[in-house]
Amino acid sequence: MGVFQNPVFEYVRSPDQDAPAPVRHAVAVVGAGPVGLAAAIDLAQHGLPTVLLDDDSTVSVGSRSVCYAKRTLEILDRLGCGERVARRGVGWNAGRVYFQDIQVYSFTLMPEPGNRRPAFVNLQQYYLEEILLEQARATGKVDLRWKSRVVDLRQDGPGVALRIETPDGAYGIVCDWVVVCDGARSPLRQMMGLECRGEVIRDRFLIADVLMDADYPVERWFWFDPPFHPNHSALLHRQADNVWRIDLQLGWDTDPDEERRPERVVPRLRQMLGDREFELLWVGVYSFACRRMERFRHGRVLFAGDAAHQMSPFGARGTNSGIQDADNLGWKLAMVASGMAPVELLDSYSDERVAAADENLLHAARSTEFITPKSRMSRTFRDAVLLLARSYPFARRMVNSGRLSVPAVLRDSALNTADADLFAGPMTPGAPAADAPVVVNGELRWLLECLGNRFNGMYFANGMSVLPGEVAAGIASLTLDRIPVETRVVVEPGNPIELPPGVMKLEDYEDLVAQRYDAGPGTFYLLRPDQHVCARWRAFDAQRARQAVLRATCNEPGRSD
Ligand SMILES: Cc1cc2nc3c(=O)[nH]c(=O)nc-3n(C[C@H](O)[C@H](O)[C@H](O)COP(=O)(O)OP(=O)(O)OC[C@H]3O[C@@H](n4cnc5c(N)ncnc54)[C@H](O)[C@@H]3O)c2cc1C
Repeated sequence: MGVFQNPVFEYVRSPDQDAPAPVRHAVAVVGAGPVGLAAAIDLAQHGLPTVLLDDDSTVSVGSRSVCYAKRTLEILDRLGCGERVARRGVGWNAGRVYFQDIQVYSFTLMPEPGNRRPAFVNLQQYYLEEILLEQARATGKVDLRWKSRVVDLRQDGPGVALRIETPDGAYGIVCDWVVVCDGARSPLRQMMGLECRGEVIRDRFLIADVLMDADYPVERWFWFDPPFHPNHSALLHRQADNVWRIDLQLGWDTDPDEERRPERVVPRLRQMLGDREFELLWVGVYSFACRRMERFRHGRVLFAGDAAHQMSPFGARGTNSGIQDADNLGWKLAMVASGMAPVELLDSYSDERVAAADENLLHAARSTEFITPKSRMSRTFRDAVLLLARSYPFARRMVNSGRLSVPAVLRDSALNTADADLFAGPMTPGAPAADAPVVVNGELRWLLECLGNRFNGMYFANGMSVLPGEVAAGIASLTLDRIPVETRVVVEPGNPIELPPGVMKLEDYEDLVAQRYDAGPGTFYLLRPDQHVCARWRAFDAQRARQAVLRATCNEPGRSD
């Protein structure tokens, strides 16, 4: 255990290479990193087959992303592999922040019980990709082609032509849509002459994976200016198989080749780990940029993940935000490709995820400023905040050791129907749906797993012995123009209420669903296929609900594509 050997996947010649003319496909996804894999699985689960092209023949090499946030785990649950990721990785909810040799404070990220997933699961990126690959294969709809480098992309009106280089020559395909997930350097972005604007951060980090037996609690530990690495920051995370990830800030004026040498690295780690036995498994020197493309949709080409935006590693926003891109894009592209929605729906992908990227970039920039102050004044301020934070909770809010990834709330989305009724709490239109335990047919399950990947109406019938006639009739009429809307009825435990066929009864096991959604009898929530709230009312009205479905799919009368 511990020493991961990268698998080598076989290149297989595709029948497309022997076709007399470029074969047409609905969707090509370029890049089989975590984001491309998640996008291909999602599209497959919406019934859309994809060709997934990757220029390499293995999963991620070395130590890259580590921490997957609760929201990402919930998306992975929806894709069918969250449990495998959670079981393979190491879950954690707490962390500690140190300044020099004192603990400034400790924190808990998820105080609330009744959630399926912890705040984070740590897992090496190569394991995450292996699990996603397994899931992609299981769909039977992902045609994964290794050693297939896209070297040219041309868009004409109805399609996108791709030129693909393989070990036995180049060939072309034509696609209705291309999802570009080819990483931070994004050759396809460059082929299209598009830019990613922002800032290259003038700092370097040593990242090392070490194998060691350590009984430290499973927490995030962050040090400012520690005695073992003065004037810089350090971060420690546990991963699977007793592999620990250490990030040491080096500063810009360092020679990356020199810093990578084990003769340099091992003494640095010794300073940190003391006499503890460890084996150095991997080392790299990392610098980063904080930037994004102006728009993520360019005609029939959609950008996601690092290809669309890059951010500092503080806060674990890279893979987390990329998987949230895929989550946002999957259902929209599936609806547009099958004619259920106009192409305008894909502009909402760009709008919503550009806003999310901006939020991530803002947090990443603030973390970077706090962790690596660029002037003496900022450094004095930073150190004063850290000293105060030891005794005063108000100062803790100002400490920024990498505010950890939180899901985007799509508050300003044009797909939302604004609240007309008063609600308390965070389940506002645009918010990702909160999870809670529910009982279905006597079995304890989770709300989000019962929602799946369709539009969902969630009607609260707590205390009702029969479903009101207009509600029973209304929910049956929600499926419009082939856009499926499923309905769940939430009741208190043991309520024997009879429901129309196809409607799932969810018993609110600990009253947490009603609490988290601030729902009373008659409340109705409409949720999108990516499990974001898009509308809610204190009373059900079929006409308003249908209108909200049309709005959330850009199908409102008078809207053109
Ligand atoms: C050294 C390092 C450390 C990192 N540490 C962290 C961290 O601590 N926390 C964090 O959140 N994130 C971290 N990241 C970032 C994280 O790894 C990325 O955010 C994540 O991998 C993005 O996934 P992606 O699928 O968008 O791109 P990638 O994982 O980069 O995948 C892109 C894929 O596209 C393929 N490809 C490229 N060009 C072509 C082409 N022309 N044709 C076909 N295929 C192509 C590549 O082979 C690759 O498989 C780190 C990254 C690096 C490099």
